[in-house]
Amino acid sequence: MLVLVLNCGSSSLKYQLFDMTDQSVLAKGRVERIGIDGSFLIHEGKGDEIEIETDMSDHTVAIKNVLDILVNEEHGVIENFDQIEAVGHRVVHGGEDFSGSVLITNEVKDALTRNIELAPLHNPPNLMGIAAVEANIPGVPNVGVFDTAFHATMPQYAYLYGLPYKLYEKYRIRRYGFHGTSHKFVSERCAVLMDKPAEEIRIITAHLGNGSSIAAVDKGISVDTSMGFTPLEGVMMGTRTGDFDPAIVGYIMQKENLDFNGFNDLVNKQSGVFGISGVSSDMRDVESAASSGNELAALSLQMFEYKVRKYIGSYVAAMKGVDAIVFTAGIGENDVKLRKNILDNLAWLGIEIDDEINANHKIKEKELTKPGSKVRVFVIPTNEELGIANDTYEIVQNLK
Ligand code: ADP
Repeated sequence: MLVLVLNCGSSSLKYQLFDMTDQSVLAKGRVERIGIDGSFLIHEGKGDEIEIETDMSDHTVAIKNVLDILVNEEHGVIENFDQIEAVGHRVVHGGEDFSGSVLITNEVKDALTRNIELAPLHNPPNLMGIAAVEANIPGVPNVGVFDTAFHATMPQYAYLYGLPYKLYEKYRIRRYGFHGTSHKFVSERCAVLMDKPAEEIRIITAHLGNGSSIAAVDKGISVDTSMGFTPLEGVMMGTRTGDFDPAIVGYIMQKENLDFNGFNDLVNKQSGVFGISGVSSDMRDVESAASSGNELAALSLQMFEYKVRKYIGSYVAAMKGVDAIVFTAGIGENDVKLRKNILDNLAWLGIEIDDEINANHKIKEKELTKPGSKVRVFVIPTNEELGIANDTYEIVQNLK
């Protein structure tokens, strides 16, 4: 079965076409500047990469271009659209409606529309992607895979904030958590690598990328995670603050004369590692500035390490212990120094790492701990697209 995976943003989309018989990727690519001058598509198919510049006024046109290139004689990988048996969509916010992936129906679309107010930037393009597939490949099953769904298992005492309960009832203000597809993917893989049933282990998954979140996965289910009502909460990130005292909100808005949008921009785009270092949100730039003596760059790295470590420590308490820690995403998979700092500072947990394996860039998926380490630590490359393809495949198989 061929499954097309789509991740639609407001002016961009990413796609991958999977052959689920062996989970191989037949083609992948991205479209940028949808609805803006200068839109283009970059496609990798038969071992080549091509760029096509053409006007794409909306997602329907963009997806038509993706489908056309997939069947293109020279660069395509399939003969006709009908070979695509299902389409899996990344959907950011499932609100309280979804605790797992679902076949998209009119009721599901209504629920997604209701959830727009929870994810005003993300859910509308996700819905546009679904409509665009319906227009271009009528009848193909569409499946929604939600960033929030894996965390739907959090107990109420973990997901509620200490706000008046009636605000939760009125506005559904609570912790939702994000990066669920990634936390699920790497925690399941971790259980396989440990050769243990997921039900017998407690795992802390650290998804550290431009956006970062940590999750506590107890017996295969998410019991807590650091991102909250929005992806702003939790550890400090590339350009996002992470946790801070909410009393600062009104104070800064008043002092700096900021309106709601100005404040949102400050805490989402001007803060975090970038805001402290003044250098960049990219860890590689910040690390090279720190090694050239930039003290604020060094401070931002120390803060990032500390905040990640604090969350890991708090989830050890949440699960009353931990059996494994997993690092994933751009920073988690590649930043040898940061991993070493975090793990050396967690040695009290009984973690003994092998520095050589940690520093070996050639092995992508690996265990960092020495045999006998009380807590095992792994680097597991995340693959959210494959996670979406797997869920889509499973749901569509069950329809047959
Ligand atoms: P996104 O959240 O956008 O998916 P990624 O998971 O791709 O982000 O992670 C991007 C982050 O990974 C950037 O901060 C980048 O600096 C960091 N990163 C990538 N490669 C390395 C590396 N070799 N060393 C340190 N950081 C890295």
